[in-house]
Amino acid sequence: MSTPVDVALIGGGIMSATLGSLLQRLQPDWTIRIFERLGDVALESSNPWNNAGTGHSALCELNYTPQKADGSIDITSAVKVNEQFQVSRQFWAHLVDTGALPEPSHFINATPHMSFVWGESNVEYLRKRYEALQDHPLFAGMEYSEDAPVIRSWAPLMIPGRKKSEPIAATRIASGTDVDFGALTHLLNRTLVDAGATVTTETVVTNLTRQKDGLWRLSLRKDIGGTPMEPVTARFVFVGAGGYALGLLQKSGIKEIRGYGGFPVSGEFLRTDNPEVVAKHAAKVYGKAAVGSPPMSVPHLDLRVVDGSPSLMFGPYAGFSPRFLKTGSLVDLFASIRWHNIVPMVAAGLGNLGLVRYLIGQLLASRDSKFRELQRFYPNANPEDWYRIIAGQRVQVIKRDKKKLGVLQFGTEVVAAGDGSIAGLLGASPGASTAVPIMLTLIEKCFPAKLEEWTPRIREMIPSYGTLLSDDPKKAAATLKRTAKSLQIPA
Ligand SMILES: Cc1cc2nc3c(=O)[nH]c(=O)nc-3n(C[C@H](O)[C@H](O)[C@H](O)COP(=O)(O)OP(=O)(O)OC[C@H]3O[C@@H](n4cnc5c(N)ncnc54)[C@H](O)[C@@H]3O)c2cc1C
Repeated sequence: MSTPVDVALIGGGIMSATLGSLLQRLQPDWTIRIFERLGDVALESSNPWNNAGTGHSALCELNYTPQKADGSIDITSAVKVNEQFQVSRQFWAHLVDTGALPEPSHFINATPHMSFVWGESNVEYLRKRYEALQDHPLFAGMEYSEDAPVIRSWAPLMIPGRKKSEPIAATRIASGTDVDFGALTHLLNRTLVDAGATVTTETVVTNLTRQKDGLWRLSLRKDIGGTPMEPVTARFVFVGAGGYALGLLQKSGIKEIRGYGGFPVSGEFLRTDNPEVVAKHAAKVYGKAAVGSPPMSVPHLDLRVVDGSPSLMFGPYAGFSPRFLKTGSLVDLFASIRWHNIVPMVAAGLGNLGLVRYLIGQLLASRDSKFRELQRFYPNANPEDWYRIIAGQRVQVIKRDKKKLGVLQFGTEVVAAGDGSIAGLLGASPGASTAVPIMLTLIEKCFPAKLEEWTPRIREMIPSYGTLLSDDPKKAAATLKRTAKSLQIPA
C-alpha cells in the first residue's frame, strides 16, 4: 500500500476545495489528496447551474428576518449569515491579494440584491425589515422604496404589466454578489495542485475503515467499469461528498453519525439567455416564500454570470426525488435507513407534513401554473424565452431530538469523530457562501491541538477571525471596504 497521506478529501465540491486551501496554508508540509467520483470537480451542487450562485449574506433573503408575534422583525439570523459571508469574503480577498486567485470577476460579480413584495401586509413587513437593518454596519447602503418608477429603475422587468392599485415595495443594496461556485472550486483546486496536492477524478470512495494503527483506509473503485483500485490510507479524512456524506459517514462506523438521516429535496429553475430580456435585469430579486413552504423555496429572479455569459434564472421550484445527488441512485433514501435513524426519520416526517404537502403540490403543479409564479415577478414574461433546468439535490438533515424524537433542519452540520480523525458535512443551507466559516468550524473541531499554532496564520488571512464585525462598526466598515476593493465589488 502507498504511503499514508495527511489529508484525504472525499468529493470535489466547494467544501473540499475550501478545506484543502485552508489546510494547505496552515500546514504547507502536509500531503493532500482529493477524490472525486465524477469526470471533473464541481459537477454536483457546486456547479453554477445546480445552485443559484447567490452570495448569501441575508441582504435580500427574507427567510432570515422572520416577523415576531409582536410584529417586530428578528434580525438575528440575518446578522449571523452576513457575518459568515464576511469570513468567506475575507479569505477570497486574501487569495486574490496574494495572487492565488486570479481576476475576481472569474468567480464573483457585483449584482445588487433586492427584496420585492406585493400586498399591504408584505409591504409593511418589508418597511419594518428595512428599518431594523438600515443602521446595522453589515447592511449599510440599503435603500427602500414603495414607488413604482424607482423600483422600475432598479429592476425594469418587474413593473410593466402590474396593476397600479397593488401596493408594492422593494429594498436594494448595491454590494450584493453573484458567485460562480463552480469556477471558484476549479480555481481553488488549481492552486492546491500547483502546491503539490493531487486531484483524482472518476474515483469512487466505496468504504472507510479505521485500521489498528489509527489510519483511515479508503477503499476505491473506478467510477466507469467499477474496477477496484489500490486503497489509500490517510491520517485525516474529510467527507465532503455532498448528499453522499451521510452514507460514507455511516460506513465509517463512527458513533457520532448515529441518529442522523437525510431528506432529499430536488429543484428546478427556469432560465433565459435572450439578450434583450437579460439586459433589462441586473439584480438578484428575492420575494416572500408562500405560507407553509420551506425556506429554500423562496422565489427569486436572478442575473447569473457563468463563464462570462449573462443569463436570468427564476425559481427554485422544489420537488421530490429519492436521490441524494443529482447523479445519485433511486435507492439512496432507502439505503440511508439504519436502526438508529428510523425513529428520528419517521418523527421528522410526521412533524413536517406541511412540507410533504408542499412538495406534492409542487410535483403536481402544471407548467402553466409554474410559469405564473415567474409572472408574479416579471408580469410580461414570455414562455418562449424560458426553458427548464434541473438544479442540484439538497439533502436536509434529520436528527434526533429529545422532545420530538426527530427533527428536520435546514442548515448545515459538521459531524466529526470524537478524536477529530474524520469529519463530514451534512445539509445544504446557506451553503457554499459560508464554506469558509463552516470549514473553520471543522478545523476547530478536528485539530484543537494545532489551533494555537495556526491562529496567527488564520488571522493573517481572515483578520476578523474569532470576533464579530457587528460588535465594532468601524472595523466592519473597514473590512467591507477592504474586501470589496480586492474582490472588485461595491463596498
Ligand atoms: C438548488 C440549489 C440552490 C442553491 N443555491 C445556493 C446559493 O444561491 N448560494 C449558496 O451559497 N449556496 C447555494 N446552494 C448550496 C450549495 O450549492 C452547496 O452548499 C454546496 O455546493 C455544497 O458543496 P459540497 O462541496 O458540500 O457538495 P458538492 O458540490 O455536491 O460536492 C460533493 C462531491 O462529492 C462527490 N462524491 C460523492 N460521493 C463520492 C464518493 N463516494 N467518492 C468520491 N466522490 C464522491 C460528488 O460527485 C460531488 O462532486 C444551493 C444548492 C442547491 C441544490
